[in-house]
Amino acid sequence: MKILVIGSGAREHALTWKLRESGLMEEIYCAPGNAGIAQEAECRPVDVSNPAQILELANGLKADLTVVGPEAPLVAGVVDEFKRARRVIIGPTRAAARLEGSKIFSKQFMQRHSIPTAAFKVAESFDQAVKALSEFGLPVVIKADGLAAGKGVVIARTREEAEKTLDEFMRQRTLGSAGEKVILEEALRGEELSFIVLTDGRAILPLVPTQDHKAVFDDDQGPNTGGMGAYSEDAILDEPLRAEIIRTIVAPTLVGMAVEGTPYRGFLYCGLMLTSQGPQVLEYNVRMGDPEAQPIVMRLRSDLAELLVALSEDRLATLEPHWSPNPSVCVVLASRGYPGKPEVGKVITGIEAAETRGGVKVFHAGTKFQDFHLLSTGGRVLGVTATAEDLPGAIACAYSAVSKINFEGMHFRRDIGAKGLKRISGDWRAGTADEPAGDAPSPRQAG
Ligand code: AMP
Repeated sequence: MKILVIGSGAREHALTWKLRESGLMEEIYCAPGNAGIAQEAECRPVDVSNPAQILELANGLKADLTVVGPEAPLVAGVVDEFKRARRVIIGPTRAAARLEGSKIFSKQFMQRHSIPTAAFKVAESFDQAVKALSEFGLPVVIKADGLAAGKGVVIARTREEAEKTLDEFMRQRTLGSAGEKVILEEALRGEELSFIVLTDGRAILPLVPTQDHKAVFDDDQGPNTGGMGAYSEDAILDEPLRAEIIRTIVAPTLVGMAVEGTPYRGFLYCGLMLTSQGPQVLEYNVRMGDPEAQPIVMRLRSDLAELLVALSEDRLATLEPHWSPNPSVCVVLASRGYPGKPEVGKVITGIEAAETRGGVKVFHAGTKFQDFHLLSTGGRVLGVTATAEDLPGAIACAYSAVSKINFEGMHFRRDIGAKGLKRISGDWRAGTADEPAGDAPSPRQAG
């Protein structure tokens, strides 16, 4: 098979790395890719927001299977474009991708289908939004309707902060048209969980559970980012909770989409808050998460291309994926300034040394090769991912690898996986946490 991966982040590096191992793979391409992906696949330029251009590339390569990493091409309708041309691609159609493309659509969809989520109100103008604020306590969550690359959600702790955010989103248009309309939402308390499934619309194949770390600093302090790290271990989710999530959230989502005439296929990511009232949906993503994809792929023993082909042929129910029981941890190394404007163009060293230890893989995000140097090109630069027999071991292994890598201004969280360590020590139980996440201690071996 000729396989084409679309995207240029560490998620796409992880997907490419795994697909390259597939027994079905004859040729593998990535567009546009990055310096790390270029070591595993042939990279081609493409504008990921342009579905017609992506199809043209796939046609030119005669790609048998196209896998889309980021949300932008899906929301722009790349799957519809491929369907018209009868070329195989994994992901939801444009109509189904509204689950991520419009927060208003997704909240109203959940309301229509009684899927548990925070109470909310839609506001279409600044005045309407300010008026609606009084219906909510503090903190209040403000979400821009459209895609905003992780910058569209603010948890406002004071009324002033809420009004300032609304002013920025709706009057100053800091997010462009994405912030024209907003959702005001009740703030939920509990532990967050990323629950990702593969689905052909009927069969639900859950991937191993992960926890993301969105805030830029340790102990969940500072502004939100695209994700500063993630870990995966089975203990994040026990069987009754997993069954509850499928019954109350994933299954009604797929049934609801089918009933509305927009059946859902592809990766479906449910960002959940485990509240004392049970799991509730914070958001849907219509793709794998980044960084969640990295620890998930590290644990996958099955052939990913086989799973995706089965999905495309409606045969997912016949497959049982195999996973390593060993936990995995991904620590994101970011540029100075991130999640604000990052300082880029810094020379990166130490990746080979970091990967000499077994069980470590460094996935590239914002990197390029220039004049025999590896340079940083974005906010998130690398995702250092490790697996070991237990979570403390995987954390130690990931941070030992991190300690070998350097670039000017590099920063990272030192507490990735700490909530899992806390769970091991018995301080936390799934489904009962009622404290805001973030009081976990930093692991001693970190850094
Ligand atoms: P979203 O893009 O909707 O997942 O929001 C990004 C992050 O904001 C989530 O991962 C949560 O950490 C936080 N968040 C979103 N909605 C809520 C909510 N209703 N209550 C508390 N935190 C939230």
